Amino acid sequence: MTDEQDLGITSSKSHQTGDWYAEVVQKGEMADYAPMGGFIVTRPRGYAVWERLQENLDGWFKETGVQNAYFPLFIPESYLEKEKDIVEGFDPEVAWVTHGGNEELEERLAVRPTSESIIAPFLAQWTRSHRDLPLRLNQWCSVVRWEATETKPFFRTKEFLWQEGHTAHADEESAWDETMTRLDQYERLYEEVMAMPVMKGRKPEHDKFPGAHTTSTVEALMPDGKSVQGGTSHYLGTSFAEAFDIEFVDEDEEMQTAHTTSWGLSWRAMGALIMTHSDDQGLVLPPAVAPEQVVVVPIYSEDTQEEILEYSADIAAELDEAGVRVHLDDRDHRNPGFKYNDWELKGVPLRIEVGPNEMADGEVTFSHRPDGESITESREDLPATVEEHLDAVFAKLYASAEETLEGEIREAESREEILGTLGQHGGYVETGWCGDEACEEPIKDAIAAEIVMVPLDRDEEPIHDECAICGEEAEETAYFAKSY
Ligand SMILES: [Zn+2]
Repeated sequence: MTDEQDLGITSSKSHQTGDWYAEVVQKGEMADYAPMGGFIVTRPRGYAVWERLQENLDGWFKETGVQNAYFPLFIPESYLEKEKDIVEGFDPEVAWVTHGGNEELEERLAVRPTSESIIAPFLAQWTRSHRDLPLRLNQWCSVVRWEATETKPFFRTKEFLWQEGHTAHADEESAWDETMTRLDQYERLYEEVMAMPVMKGRKPEHDKFPGAHTTSTVEALMPDGKSVQGGTSHYLGTSFAEAFDIEFVDEDEEMQTAHTTSWGLSWRAMGALIMTHSDDQGLVLPPAVAPEQVVVVPIYSEDTQEEILEYSADIAAELDEAGVRVHLDDRDHRNPGFKYNDWELKGVPLRIEVGPNEMADGEVTFSHRPDGESITESREDLPATVEEHLDAVFAKLYASAEETLEGEIREAESREEILGTLGQHGGYVETGWCGDEACEEPIKDAIAAEIVMVPLDRDEEPIHDECAICGEEAEETAYFAKSY
């Protein structure tokens, strides 16, 4: 077996999606499995992708009035119990600390499954008057949810990285605007940075975040026809404010209860990104998040080596100076073919090949990672040309993800049609729904699909007059899908 074969992906995306995904994550150097089930180790190249997502989102948060803070990893049990829905919602998944050193603790501490219960008391302390509102905090951290499912890097891990935003507002309108602002920023992250179109909607009542008034979501369709909940933004109403006494004195000197929100996006976004764009050659990353945007591969023989390496180094230096994340692969013990495969596996969006012809003509040859398209261009104004090619790569990735989503939303009018359509095609099935959770059960039981969202607008007329399952009057349109 040659080195090349050792490196490559051996399973197929279309036929063995699970194995293929695990291989891409590991061979693309995104993550490894930790010794404890349910945990992963994020490698530097994986963490670099996370940092790009973080930088974009963090920038938009700060432009829109959010400040970062940090709260403890542990939450006293009595705090967690203050909001009963949170306890009921998360209790089976909470990891508990019972000992500090050899001493048994007087009160158990929960490893945060989410931080409403530790942040809300401080929102209460820091909110005195209407002038303190809105109060917008965010933290970048990890949380732990002890789910007994198979580990799937970035999709299903007991500990995961995320951001959680928590805000308090004087009234419903301000809190609702906040909820939608964050949802729009999640959509923007997917569409403008990750080259993925998403659908925006609301979770059905029975699948809301514990204690929330409304849970809004961005959903992304994976190539295997399953939906991923890509980020959620919750309008919490006054339930948390009542449980934690977040009150303020309004303009008329009256005490009022605040309205709160919370919103989170986790590294599941990375999982969705990897799943969406990567292929049987390995990882594919959009330029905005790739650790290296461009790799320069010199092609030389013994007598051209010195000149070509110099020409290549100049190119890399010029791009680096222009702010492009560029890597010159000048490994002498590897041939160009090996290098091509290696960087394709690692998802570098754009390759620049430099051989004797390119050097003689003052040119470079570009190769686009997603489809292998090869174009020779002048070496003049290289940073601008590279920019154009990176944009072209982004457009190709977006178009392909859009094609996956388009045509994957189908209507159904009966239980049999829902089951048949989802069974055959996957994707989303749009139906009339009475609003009763019981009507989701037969679909869930039969093929493990569920209602992943309903339209954001509560007043929107359902597409069908009748619930596809029970035949009663439809209250809204439901989108059924299998999900991660
Ligand atoms: Zn029904």
